[in-house]
Amino acid sequence: MAWRYECGDCDRRTTWMGRADVEDVRHQHHDTAHRGKAPAKERFTSNAERVADNPRQLVFVLVIGILAAVVWVFDSIT
Ligand SMILES: [Zn+2]
Repeated sequence: MAWRYECGDCDRRTTWMGRADVEDVRHQHHDTAHRGKAPAKERFTSNAERVADNPRQLVFVLVIGILAAVVWVFDSIT
């Protein structure tokens, strides 16, 4: 998984890199562009898939949930 840092105050955006590297770039950016302070708007973005991007994962989680519910109902009536 890779991370990217975006500064909302001055449109600085890194390439995809490791989490530790992104933290380093962020601190350097604070020192050089914002006199050591954190900007008002900044964010980290990861390139990990969100569940909404992959509906098959959501279906899988639902199926597991339904199976667990069936087992629980079966257990409580026997
Ligand atoms: Zn900035």
